[in-house]
Amino acid sequence: MIGGAKKPLIAGNWKLNMTIPEARHLIQGVLAAAEGLPGVEFLVIPTFTSLAEARRLLEGTAVRLGAQDMFWEDQGAYTGEVSGPLLRDAGCSHVIIGHSERRQSFGETDETVNRKIRAALRSGLTPVVCIGETDEEREAGRTEAKIDRQLEAGLKGLSADEAARVILAYEPIWAIGTGKTATPAQAEGGHAHIRARLQDRYGKDLSGCVIILYGGSAKPANAFSLYKEKDIDGFLVGGASLEAESFIGIAREALRADKEKK
Ligand code: PEP
Repeated sequence: MIGGAKKPLIAGNWKLNMTIPEARHLIQGVLAAAEGLPGVEFLVIPTFTSLAEARRLLEGTAVRLGAQDMFWEDQGAYTGEVSGPLLRDAGCSHVIIGHSERRQSFGETDETVNRKIRAALRSGLTPVVCIGETDEEREAGRTEAKIDRQLEAGLKGLSADEAARVILAYEPIWAIGTGKTATPAQAEGGHAHIRARLQDRYGKDLSGCVIILYGGSAKPANAFSLYKEKDIDGFLVGGASLEAESFIGIAREALRADKEKK
C-alpha cells in the first residue's frame, strides 16, 4: 500500500507528452521491469487522454495510476474541468496538486491548491502536493519561508487523519526540467524542514509517516545519493519518466539506497 510501510515511491509525471500508442509502449516497458522490483511502489501519471488505456494495461498490477490535476467541484457547469469522482471513475488513485507549472502558468494559488487537496481527499484520491522555491527565493534566503507558506495554506483546515493521506513533493522550481538537480544536502534540507513543520502541527508519529518525494531533474545518476538522505522517500520524476529505462533506473538506484538506509 502506498503510504503504509515505506518503500521507495517512484512517480512519473508525463506532463504534456505521449500519444495513446506511445503511452501504451511506455507502460508496457515499465510493467515489464516493475515486476522484478517488488520493493518499489510505482505510480504513472499520464495525460487525461491516456488514462483509459493506462488503466486497461495496469489493471491487476501493482503499478498505480494518477492524474496531473483536478478541479475542486465534483460536477456542474465547469467546461473543460475534470473532478475527483471522474478521476476515481477513470481508475486513478492519485492526483498531482499544485505543480509549479500550474502555479506559474495557469494561475494556481495556495487557496486553489487547498480547495483541490480537500476535494481530492473527499473523493478518496491521494493528493501529491508540490511545493518549492524559485532560484530567486533561494538566493534571498527565503526557501523555508516559501515552504512554510505553501504548507500552511495548502494543508489549511486538514485534520491529522486527512494530512496523513497527503503525499508531499519538494520540488525546487530551479531544478525542474533544468538538469540542475539539488544536491543531496539541499534536497534533505527542504525535506527535513517540511517534516519538522508537519511535526509541529500534527506530531511526530504522523510526520514520520508522511511520504515526501523529491522532484527536480531526478535521474539514475543522482537517485542513489538523494534517496540515501534520511527524509527522502522517493521521487516525482518528469523528463526521466518518459523512457522506461531511465524511470526504472531511478527505481533501481532508490532501492539500492533503501537497503543501505534501513
Ligand atoms: C516534475 O515535473 O515534477 C519534475 C520534477 O520534472 P523533471 O524531473 O523533468 O525536473
